[in-house]
Amino acid sequence: MSNERLTLVIAAHNEAMALPLLHPRLRAVLDGLDGIEGRIVYVDDGSTDATWQVMQALAAADDSVGLLRLSRNFGKEAALTAGLDFVDGGAAMILDADGQDPPELIPQFVALWRQGYDNIYGTRQERDGETWLKRGTSSAFYRVIGRLSKTPIPADTGDFRLLSPRALQALGQLRERHRFMKGLFGWVGFRRKALPYHRHARMVGDTKFGFWKLWNFALEGITSFSTAPLRAATYLGLLTASAAFVFGAWVVVKAALYGDRVAGYPTMMAVILFLGGVQLIALGLIGEYLGRLYEESKQRPLYLVDTWHAPFVADSAVH
Ligand code: UDP
Ligand code: MG
Repeated sequence: MSNERLTLVIAAHNEAMALPLLHPRLRAVLDGLDGIEGRIVYVDDGSTDATWQVMQALAAADDSVGLLRLSRNFGKEAALTAGLDFVDGGAAMILDADGQDPPELIPQFVALWRQGYDNIYGTRQERDGETWLKRGTSSAFYRVIGRLSKTPIPADTGDFRLLSPRALQALGQLRERHRFMKGLFGWVGFRRKALPYHRHARMVGDTKFGFWKLWNFALEGITSFSTAPLRAATYLGLLTASAAFVFGAWVVVKAALYGDRVAGYPTMMAVILFLGGVQLIALGLIGEYLGRLYEESKQRPLYLVDTWHAPFVADSAVH
């Protein structure tokens, strides 16, 4: 059987407690895969705890482990991009460091890959250990973005997925700074397949995504994959203008029929405040897009690497 290569990519930010629990599970699964050369790449996304030391210890004991340490915390999306760029041929699979994406499912992903699928993504059927608020807002988010975006973004799907070599190569060409990975995976296309799974609670540690971070993440997703809000602003403007026209006509007719009694300070205030509000909202919307355009136009690198360790990668492969 030909020796295909599969690299597991794990982004970690302050996961010193989780990694020692995760690694043996990954190792056991990779060892059980027939005809596949398994590798692991850990990305330290600017951790402030002992994550890097833990990673070094793991790499010292296992020469299929590669390490990347970013120069600071760039966020999960950038850290994953760094890890995927570091993959040297073959397919790649993304997992969370906290064990929420069960490594024991990897053989099922590989089986689908062997059937010819390029983008096999885990879809959460049940989620343990997450509040109803997180579940509710998350499902609302998927509904909104599903409607707004032309790119297919499957609901309840995280980054837990396997990318075939050609899907990985295609993804590597998307170098935008504002990276909404769920959307980028969808944009790439090829043969996609969902794999339903039961998402367990985190093994140890706390979530790095609080409410505010998730809200910004949602805005990022919507503005990166849809210009529908801009169009909505146009329609809102049209609607207000029509309403104002009808109201104006009514004022004229009323004055002609009943004479003009000077009144209406409250109505005037209401209208002015309403229109002022609408204009500010529309401006803010434009600002959201403009700000992203500005960030994009700077053409900065997506991440910077501090140190790396790769027993298996040639120097030239590191960007
Ligand atoms: N993560 C990261 N950089 C960050 C935040 C998170 O690499 O700035 C990693 C984190 O270590 C974990 C994964 O992203 O492996 C998912 O994070 P978390 O479990 O906190 O998110 P949740 O599962 O609660 O949505
Ligand atoms: Mg998690």
